[in-house]
Amino acid sequence: MFEKILIANRGEIALRIHRACKEMGIATVAVHSTADEEAMHVRLADESVCIGPPPAKESYLNIPAILAACEITGADAVHPGYGFLSENAHFAEILGHHGIRFIGPSPEHIRLMGDKIAAKQIARKLNLPLVPGSEGAVKDVAEALDFAKRVNYPVLVKAAAGGGGRGMKVVRRAPEMAGAMSAAAAEAKAAFGDGTLYLEKYLNKPRHIEVQLLGDPQGRAIHLGERDCSLQRRHQKILEEAPSPALNEKDRERIGRLAARAATKLGYIGAGTMEFLYTEEGFFFIEMNTRLQVEHPVTEMITGVNMVREQIMIAAGASSGIKQRDIRQRGHAVECRINAENARTFLPSPGEVRAFHPPGGFGVRVDSSVYEGYRIPAFYDSMIGKLIIHGQNRTECLMRLRWALKEFVIEGVDTTIPLFQELLEEADIINGNYDIHWLESWIAKRQDNPQNGDAA
Ligand code: ADP
Repeated sequence: MFEKILIANRGEIALRIHRACKEMGIATVAVHSTADEEAMHVRLADESVCIGPPPAKESYLNIPAILAACEITGADAVHPGYGFLSENAHFAEILGHHGIRFIGPSPEHIRLMGDKIAAKQIARKLNLPLVPGSEGAVKDVAEALDFAKRVNYPVLVKAAAGGGGRGMKVVRRAPEMAGAMSAAAAEAKAAFGDGTLYLEKYLNKPRHIEVQLLGDPQGRAIHLGERDCSLQRRHQKILEEAPSPALNEKDRERIGRLAARAATKLGYIGAGTMEFLYTEEGFFFIEMNTRLQVEHPVTEMITGVNMVREQIMIAAGASSGIKQRDIRQRGHAVECRINAENARTFLPSPGEVRAFHPPGGFGVRVDSSVYEGYRIPAFYDSMIGKLIIHGQNRTECLMRLRWALKEFVIEGVDTTIPLFQELLEEADIINGNYDIHWLESWIAKRQDNPQNGDAA
């Protein structure tokens, strides 16, 4: 087993990993930018190393500085968390060259799934159903128009290197195609250095259903059930739940088995997630994420499996021995992403947290790195924590969530807590009756209705 793990991340996920290490008797190293000197992950870790100035490019994405931090502290493994370098195959490879273990899948699998066009080609070979899409990259507007004519509008222009919803544009009519393609290519080029595009049929009212997978060192993959992440704003998840209120037992079994079988055929080792869109016509694979997901706690809450511990075990070459038949889903879990943002305008709200009182009690989990007096820097993602609730069933879970949100005190900055409070009054949310477009239309309606407080 590893003796010392360097955590190449910040915020709540750095803490989450630190805690798993401590349970396992492993020492931790935090890395941080100069903006994060006072951050909780730095305070809690056994050792810490400053790796650069505030911009992520110069610190949390600075591979030479992170390598140097490994050398200085003698860390024998690195956990990348999510975001930052977690899906950087080059980083995983370089660590390997230095005899440091990357806690994640092989560089080959990261690279393969990082190119969404290649990923879809592999998925086809693995018998996973796909959204009707272009055969590989589209070269020009003429080719794109041709595709759109065949599958009918609307279509979605997507970036091969995409992530976080960037480089994605809906095209509803032919005249919009050229503009959408150049905008998507420019966005993808700026964000990922690669403007390669492909097309998909734009599905009307799908749900986003993803399957959590774990591949053991012998290459046998199991699934830990699905998560429903359909509540999204700008293709970004806001609230996630497990199990999905939209699936029956048969479909749940089917997609889990299909994904696990595909991961086994792939020889995938480590934690990964296959994402699907789900309609009456069935499941459609969209991508695979080769890392821990933000929303992994909902799976932990209903299965009792500590995902980070499993990742560490697998990276160390040990299998914890969990078999598919050991995985049982108990009750229901929901996660709310608490962002330092205005709940109506969604404008970021960095600054000093003057009061912080998280909720507690049975079935209530708060994964957050915030404390009273903490200054949320403006340089990074606005997510400052996650509220995760478990209940015996969905009704109990939502009831408990309402009270936990009411108890949650964060003063000094705006947060998305009031957004969730409003959402939990909506019949569609209470009934689990929402698709990936639901939240956007709800927000649009809310803005049109001055009674809802926008006029103030
Ligand atoms: P990213 O890697 O940027 O997150 P994804 O391919 O995972 O991109 O898609 C993100 C979200 O965009 C999905 O969860 C879904 O809401 C929406 N989306 C993706 N593909 C389609 C599609 N073909 N039709 C409709 N919505 C889609």
